[in-house]
Amino acid sequence: MLDNGEGLEQLVAQLIRPEVRRLKAYHVPDSGDMLKADAMENPYFWPQELKQQWLQRLSTIEINRYPDPQAQGVVTRFKKVMSIAPQFDLLLGNGSDEIIQLLALAVARPGATIMAPEPSFVMYRMIALLAGLKYCGVPLAAGFELDLDRFLEAIKEQQPALIFLSQPNNPTGNVFAAQDVEAIIDASPGLVIVDEAYTAFTETDSLYLLEKYPNVLVMRTVSKIGLAGLRLGLLIGRPQWLREIDKLRMPYNINVLTQASAEFALDHYAWLDRQAKQIVTNRQVFYQRLSNIPGLKVWPSETNFLLVQGVRGAGKAIFQQLKQQGILIKCLDGSHPQLADTFRITVGLERDNSRIAEALENLLKY
Ligand SMILES: *Cc1c(COP(=O)(O)O)cnc(C)c1O
Repeated sequence: MLDNGEGLEQLVAQLIRPEVRRLKAYHVPDSGDMLKADAMENPYFWPQELKQQWLQRLSTIEINRYPDPQAQGVVTRFKKVMSIAPQFDLLLGNGSDEIIQLLALAVARPGATIMAPEPSFVMYRMIALLAGLKYCGVPLAAGFELDLDRFLEAIKEQQPALIFLSQPNNPTGNVFAAQDVEAIIDASPGLVIVDEAYTAFTETDSLYLLEKYPNVLVMRTVSKIGLAGLRLGLLIGRPQWLREIDKLRMPYNINVLTQASAEFALDHYAWLDRQAKQIVTNRQVFYQRLSNIPGLKVWPSETNFLLVQGVRGAGKAIFQQLKQQGILIKCLDGSHPQLADTFRITVGLERDNSRIAEALENLLKY
């Protein structure tokens, strides 16, 4: 082939699936030395002594060897710290993102549909499209609760193979009513995945659904409890499901450094848990303070972030002005009609929350 640029463009267009070319790559803004409050990261690290022990542990790893394909050390510890009943299995993913992808691939017959409420976690839609599935987003009700009638109607019409429910929901921060979730599971002809990415910050726990319904799997991650860099998610459920999904998993998807680090972290789970509790405390204070700012609406949250709405037309400007002051939050304006003028702020250290609150107070003074 003659290399004249034009030919290459054509070949790319011809070869790459149109739905892939239409997608925008997942964009992560460069945050430099800004205060990062956009990605629900945990601001705490471990005390020096723990960090030393961890590094010690890492120094014994044989990096020349393949990892344990089942990551049994990690699995055993997850079962223990999360009190997972022995009849359920665990499947680990390179982040829950990978698990979502495995689930999509597992059901990807021609015409299969993935369904999720909207607004919710954007990866459900993105991965559905990447895996060649149809995607159906069902709008949430005005207060971001599930619109049950509408959802049941959509299930009846679309017969989705997979339904994702983020519980609590990202980016709205609320927990869906248990009876609505169960009604959806009951009506679903396929699998319902309850995504508990924020389980550390809420009293709500969906593990009981696994016993009650044969078509439920629960997904979790260590990303929001201070280990986002490890890339480790888990899927919990009946072995009949996990056995099949496991066949799609690449054998060494959890690398040796992640396995050793996760084992270490889970052996010191009390630390992670204490940090999560501190974030919940910080969240209440942050929520109160932002709620007192005229012109801002703040939604109650059971996660490590707050959804905030400025007065009409002000959302983007607020985001930009904070950015100019070195504060990076997530602008949600434009991503969904119900999210006009909203932004999402990660709850962090008290002093960082204070800095953000102060910046907003000053911005909205007049
Ligand atoms: C952050 C988040 C995840 C985490 O994904 P990882 O790939 O494990 O980092 C999953 N689901 C929801 C709803 C989230 O907000």
